[in-house]
Amino acid sequence: MFFDVAIIGGGMSGLVSAIEVKRNYPEKSVVIFEKLDRVGKKILATGNGRCNLDNLTATKEDYNSPSFVSFTLEKYTPESNLDFWKSLGLLTVADSEGRVYPRSNSASSVLDALRFETEKLGIKIIFEKAEKLDKKDVFIINNNIKAEKVIVCCGGCSSPSQGSDGSGFRLLKTFRCRNTPLYPSLVQITTDTRFTKPLKGVRVKGRLTLTEKEKFIGKADGEILFADYGLSGIATMDLSRFLRKVSDIQNARIYLDMACDMEEKELLSYLVSHRNKNSHLECENFLSGILPKAMGKTIMKKCGIFLGDEAGKLTDKDIKNIIENIKNLELKVTGTKGFEFSQVTSGGIDLKEVDKFTMMSERVNDLYFCGEILDVDSRCGGFNLHWAVSSARLAAELKG
Ligand SMILES: Cc1cc2nc3c(=O)[nH]c(=O)nc-3n(C[C@H](O)[C@H](O)[C@H](O)COP(=O)(O)OP(=O)(O)OC[C@H]3O[C@@H](n4cnc5c(N)ncnc54)[C@H](O)[C@@H]3O)c2cc1C
Repeated sequence: MFFDVAIIGGGMSGLVSAIEVKRNYPEKSVVIFEKLDRVGKKILATGNGRCNLDNLTATKEDYNSPSFVSFTLEKYTPESNLDFWKSLGLLTVADSEGRVYPRSNSASSVLDALRFETEKLGIKIIFEKAEKLDKKDVFIINNNIKAEKVIVCCGGCSSPSQGSDGSGFRLLKTFRCRNTPLYPSLVQITTDTRFTKPLKGVRVKGRLTLTEKEKFIGKADGEILFADYGLSGIATMDLSRFLRKVSDIQNARIYLDMACDMEEKELLSYLVSHRNKNSHLECENFLSGILPKAMGKTIMKKCGIFLGDEAGKLTDKDIKNIIENIKNLELKVTGTKGFEFSQVTSGGIDLKEVDKFTMMSERVNDLYFCGEILDVDSRCGGFNLHWAVSSARLAAELKG
């Protein structure tokens, strides 16, 4: 069997690139290879089942490789992607932070829109894993399907139960395509659990700063969720992107600021006046005006304060110690929850081997990449699906 274009992987970038190829070149025959028994399984899990499919504020600076993504992002902006979705009959809404969701609030509408369009355009789907990719005068997939051009959209290694298990990188070994080291990203971070375990389920808003031997590595703001293994929540997931820059995890520390919207001076004056005005308040409730009660109690205990004492007994030194623990609490990092739990893979096909104006391989003519298989990643908020869609649309131009 011969096809003009074969697309390996039927996730977000595979489905979008198939549709766009067919729209750009209606005469071309297109086939998608998908290793699972259905396409787009991961799409259903995105955004907690709501699919945060884009972000109106997305710019090149939101990605690990601004110079590589700039051309794609300028050409396929969030607004142009929303028009793409509209052309599939899918209307969207954005929240105050620019996060875009389907109007139906359901990820299945996104997948349905993609599936109906692939059907309408006559795109063939073969439910088979692509295990072998060769090229003679044309590409040959699994020794029997021939194609003139191939777009590889296999994703990374994250969330392997949804299909992306790193097999794309193995498939490309024939062509000696290099990939950078792969790390789970947007993933929960494991830490020394003495502090976090008793706080399981408690959420705070704050800032996390990652250091290695006191050297700044990265920071992230937002919700932090305490767990029996360490930290979760959006700020933690965002911070996990920087772990690839740590050379020895033994030396990695997270500093937690649970009052990043308040200067130390401001916090000091609040706590001193709170103590003076409410001297009969039990210490276990002393911090409940600024932190969840369980967190307040844990911090007081950590500072060696007896919870049954009255606040009036707190010395200025106690208050300084409390502030240090609210604004600069140190946690020792031990690792992450791994690819199984990660939303995105950091690392991928080495960008030096890809033409950023076309997404074509610099080594192999007519071989294109898009989506997460490339060494491109971003934070939570719709930026990764923005990349999957925009890069798929560029690859589908089949230029080069
Ligand atoms: C739980 C979860 C929630 C997320 N939520 C969001 C969100 O709300 N917003 C956001 O922007 N990003 C989110 N992401 C990240 C986003 O889903 C990915 O970045 C995006 O799906 C990547 O698209 P892709 O097409 O490149 O890869 P994938 O979606 O991983 O698709 C790859 C496809 O290729 C198939 N495949 C792999 N190897 C082969 C092979 N050898 N042969 C045939 N088929 C193969 C796989 O089965 C899969 O269907 C989330 C991720 C997860 C796991």
